[in-house]
Amino acid sequence: MSVLILSERDVERLLPMGECIAAMEGALSALARDELHNPLRTVVRPPGSPTLMGLMPAHRSSPEPRYSLKTICIAPDNPALGLDSHQGFVALFDGVTGVLQALVNASAITAIRTAAVSAVATRALARAGSRELAILGAGVQARSHLAALREVFELERIRGWSRTPGRVAELGGVEESSSAEEAVRGADVVVTATNSAEPVLRRPWLKEGAHVNAVGSSVPSARELDSETMAAAALFADRRESLVNEAGDYLVPLREGVIGPEHIRGDLGEVLIGAVEGRRDDAELTVFKSLGLAVEDLAAAEHVVRRARAEGAGVEVDL
Ligand code: NDP
Repeated sequence: MSVLILSERDVERLLPMGECIAAMEGALSALARDELHNPLRTVVRPPGSPTLMGLMPAHRSSPEPRYSLKTICIAPDNPALGLDSHQGFVALFDGVTGVLQALVNASAITAIRTAAVSAVATRALARAGSRELAILGAGVQARSHLAALREVFELERIRGWSRTPGRVAELGGVEESSSAEEAVRGADVVVTATNSAEPVLRRPWLKEGAHVNAVGSSVPSARELDSETMAAAALFADRRESLVNEAGDYLVPLREGVIGPEHIRGDLGEVLIGAVEGRRDDAELTVFKSLGLAVEDLAAAEHVVRRARAEGAGVEVDL
């Protein structure tokens, strides 16, 4: 059995942001049309450990049947060691025979596809003419979101805040703010991409008609947005099933009784195919809660493998 192995560098070269944005739009639309199978992920969390392993399977039956599985370890202390906090691979299998076809570096897939999905959400939900961006966090996701949002909006001003002073400067082209509030005030689009378990974004700081991509905190016990923001917002998710099972940003205000299940407006894919209304007017506050989906990894890995096969990139291993 011949398996194609693709490295982090291969992925970065073969998955340009613009192409990934188009691939994510396609995958989320197909999901909304029920053409893809995306069960909830399994999270392996050893007692007392700060790390976890996520198993994210998906299947598509046509046109080319395929299984995928992303195995991703999250180790929040990795950046201090010079490593990405997200480590693993995406495996692609023939969807009929189950034969393993490819193993693709997951750090790069995760960085690029997550930001590409936020770009799709921002294009669909933010006010036309949005010009000012605020990013909270200065890690891998902050960097890739900067690239992704520059693809879909002509940004005139970008401000950033991160816990450790000086880190925002490393992103390049971003004004460092001395507080999250200072970064967010006046911004048309806000990205939260931190490991914080407590809110880093508060409702009074948000401009009328702002759009928020809430990217960090993908477990029920952690959140980045305060309850007031969630209560005031039209809420969209990558997938409702993930939102109600995994998102502290949704589950904490739900437990507090601040919002109910009817608060969820819909999935991003449903907006893309016109099944659910997006932003209703320029004054509305919109929130896109991103949890990350296996079908995004499937589509991104397939794109990389298709391009790699076309140009003979990567290494074939007989397994
Ligand atoms: P990095 O480790 O590269 O960056 C983490 C960022 O969070 C840093 O800017 C760090 O600040 C900041 N941070 C850490 N702890 C805190 C805290 N207690 N309060 C405020 N800020 C804090 O991680 P990534 O960029 O790869 O990921 C960021 C978040 O996005 C994570 O929560 C991750 O799980 C999530 N994620 C979500 C995905 C999705 O599909 N929705 C996919 C991938 C990641 P500093 O360095 O300044 O100290």
